[in-house]
Amino acid sequence: MPVSVLFRHPSSLEHDTGAHPENARRIVAIERALSERDWLGWEVRLSPAASREQIGRVHPAKHIDRIEAMCRRGGGMIDMDTIVSPGSFEAALHAAGGAVAMVDALFGGSDSGDGRVAVRAAASLHRPPGHHAEPAQAMGFCLFGNVAIAAAHAIEAHGARRVLIFDWDVHHGNGTNAIFHERDDVLFCSIHQSPLYPGTGPASDVGRGAGEGFTVNLPVPGGSGDAAFLSHVEHVVRPLARLYAPDLLLLSAGYDAHAEDPLAGCRVTDAGFAGMAALMRATADELDVPLGLVLEGGYELGALSRSVVATLEAIGAAEGPAVPAVSLDPLAERAQERLAAYWPALA
Ligand SMILES: [Zn+2]
Repeated sequence: MPVSVLFRHPSSLEHDTGAHPENARRIVAIERALSERDWLGWEVRLSPAASREQIGRVHPAKHIDRIEAMCRRGGGMIDMDTIVSPGSFEAALHAAGGAVAMVDALFGGSDSGDGRVAVRAAASLHRPPGHHAEPAQAMGFCLFGNVAIAAAHAIEAHGARRVLIFDWDVHHGNGTNAIFHERDDVLFCSIHQSPLYPGTGPASDVGRGAGEGFTVNLPVPGGSGDAAFLSHVEHVVRPLARLYAPDLLLLSAGYDAHAEDPLAGCRVTDAGFAGMAALMRATADELDVPLGLVLEGGYELGALSRSVVATLEAIGAAEGPAVPAVSLDPLAERAQERLAAYWPALA
């Protein structure tokens, strides 16, 4: 029977941001909720540190060096939002390393390269998060682009030809967007509240050059809830996944679109996150590819921990979870029409 594997590391608690919404209590709350449920039967593994080579696939060496040096000097503020402490570099190495090890597990063991899928679902639950980290600039609580590093590892170490990243964090994943902007071997789809930090990710940003059409931005207004989010997954992201036929599905999973989250204005519920996860699990099953989840944001501890549990229950379900029926929301319909320029079968 396929197993599900969860990657974690205590170094996530040593990234000290002080009085900051992105703090160690997030991981404590998630791990407490999961451990109270016996980790949902998932196998729990300690994440290794990522190597410089693995991180270097998406960040220049000087970016890695700068963060390491700043942490060695005792830490400080990279920008108004992004703070590092002496333990942050180690935490960031393991956050990236958990995402890499997750990919190894999903492809049947480290560097096996034989495409054998022993693990159908895996998750990497760490901090700092990653999707705002630009190639050469930490920002938005993020130091290294963990999910981007995972995608690059799948391609370069396991021969994946195409990877689809779906980012449901309420903020636009500008870092992941930038890293793969001119590439067609990673399809990056992001649903995010707009306007909101960081201000990127308009629907008109579709990638560039060889990557044109392989960046899919799905901005939604504040106040959007389960109906809008689920409709974009069912009627845009899933059809795109069928057309793109990736070898791996990655979820860049933030939980700050939750109705209870203090940092944004969307209205997604625990059930909404479970529904999105069930739809993505069903998509992975349909395509017969593995599914990995990398934690991003989420700042209301109760909503965060409940929604992580609900999400992992859905993606780890042995028989495949119940898939909700989802009607076509007008915003998702407009996205279909817009994207038909690149994906004609979407219309
Ligand atoms: Zn966020």
